Amino acid sequence: MNFILFGPPGAGKGTQAKMLIDKFDIVQISTGDMLRDEVKSQSDLGKSAKSIMDRGDLVSDNIIIAMIKKRIQMSDCNNGFILDGFPRTLNQAVELDGLLEDLKIKIDNVIQIEVDENLLLERINKRALENESIRNDDNSAILKNRIIVYKKDTMPVIDYYKNLKKLNTINGMQSIEKVSQDILNIL
Ligand code: AMP
Repeated sequence: MNFILFGPPGAGKGTQAKMLIDKFDIVQISTGDMLRDEVKSQSDLGKSAKSIMDRGDLVSDNIIIAMIKKRIQMSDCNNGFILDGFPRTLNQAVELDGLLEDLKIKIDNVIQIEVDENLLLERINKRALENESIRNDDNSAILKNRIIVYKKDTMPVIDYYKNLKKLNTINGMQSIEKVSQDILNIL
């Protein structure tokens, strides 16, 4: 089973991805996590990505696509994967299609977790207050930028999958359990 999971920052994507990983014994491919690992290890890639990530802007498509190309061919992906945070631009989506075609891999489901913008801000502010997060990009000013970027660059990707009739939209304004149930019902 291969999935793409969409949702703006704070939509509970991470939580639902974990549920799917456990349930289907697949791996999560999060470009955000991969980039944070690069930042932590102070690689050249990490150094150039850090300031972009701290602003909530998008890292260049070339870097992201090269990372995904390598990751998706690793043996732990054989049983399936969830793409989390990728593709985030139309160009990334088109490149992904080409890559999957070359590798003879198909995406079984594209899931969008839809949430209200005000609720997102509330959630992220709460997360910051609880100090659970060590992410530099988890404050409300940057979150606002991330939501703007999401709307501008990532909503067209969602429309792309909608036009291809591959998209399933879930109401993310429900309890975690209900969102999980809705996702499982689709699968
Ligand atoms: P995330 O954890 O998915 O919210 O990603 C954190 C940050 O990493 C984003 O705000 C972007 O700066 C960068 N990033 C993650 N995935 C991508 C992607 N597919 N394309 C461009 N930038 C990305």
